Amino acid sequence: MKQKALYTVLAVSMVAAGVFAAPQAHASKEKPVIGFSIDDLRVERWTKDRDYFKAAVEAKGGTISVQSADANEQKQISQIEGLIARKVDVIVIVPFNAKTLTTVVNEAKKAGIKVISYDRLILNADVDAYISFDNDKVGQMQAQGVVNAAPKGNYFLLGGAPTDNNAKILREGQMKVLKPLVDKGDIKIVGQQWTNEWLASNAQSIIENALTANKNNIQGIVASNDGTAGGAIAALTGQKLAGKVAVSGQDADLAAIKRIKAGTQTMTVYKPIKTIATDAANLAIDLAQGKTPQFTSKMNNGKGDINTILLTPTLLTKQNVDLVVKDGFYTQAQVGP
Ligand code: BGC
Repeated sequence: MKQKALYTVLAVSMVAAGVFAAPQAHASKEKPVIGFSIDDLRVERWTKDRDYFKAAVEAKGGTISVQSADANEQKQISQIEGLIARKVDVIVIVPFNAKTLTTVVNEAKKAGIKVISYDRLILNADVDAYISFDNDKVGQMQAQGVVNAAPKGNYFLLGGAPTDNNAKILREGQMKVLKPLVDKGDIKIVGQQWTNEWLASNAQSIIENALTANKNNIQGIVASNDGTAGGAIAALTGQKLAGKVAVSGQDADLAAIKRIKAGTQTMTVYKPIKTIATDAANLAIDLAQGKTPQFTSKMNNGKGDINTILLTPTLLTKQNVDLVVKDGFYTQAQVGP
């Protein structure tokens, strides 16, 4: 009896002294190791995110380990498990599927590793932070850009990947602009579809079918990014309609900038990748070193209110497209005359 009481006293004081406390994510590390798990490096923008993120982490004395899941849910889970096994300090994730990472995020947290949701929100999981652009605003800009060019007529809504929470937020933003015009009778939504994996080839066949079903009578296509806009414009080209139908996008992909200059794409949304990647790198380092970062808002992911940083996007049309050169996103030579 006496001995048991002694053990209890000992155990209580050890807990108080922090001996049994959960590992502190390797806090106070001078050279943190950051894992970066990216959905799909085959999409142009994510290679930029990777390069800027790597540069910013290294500038602060850290190192990174990058994985690309090639739009494969299972592969992403295994890669994150690999990062946990390697005991990195923080894992930054661009999720392929917003809804399937609950368990692996829990595993990371149990191992004392902090988790940051990058650009896309991971749902129903205990993530430490979320950083993105204001996607609702991006959606509003996309719809407004198409409305400015085609104030009345038949519209097709070309959504992003159904597995990406951003696709849903973009649609909500788009509808804020479109709903009053639909109610007024100016705009008729003749169809809408999500684009699996955000693939341009999928977008192209969706729009080919939509053009056939509507006998080419479509005036506006609200595409949710530049890749899918490219697919839509290829479908329009097949019907000699490129430049005659308003099409939106986002990312300021080089091909999209060229299409805007040529008049076949109406607008894109410029999101300075250097800013999100650098801010995310600083966030990751702060979390690894046990510092409290600054957040701008909170966003509910089904599990709780997640500390969030939302950055501001910019609408680009033919009128102000040169901003991408002024901002150093591209050189004049890349963009062309
Ligand atoms: C991002 C876009 C990107 C798309 C496809 C979205 O979650 O916000 O910038 O074009 O995914 O990768």
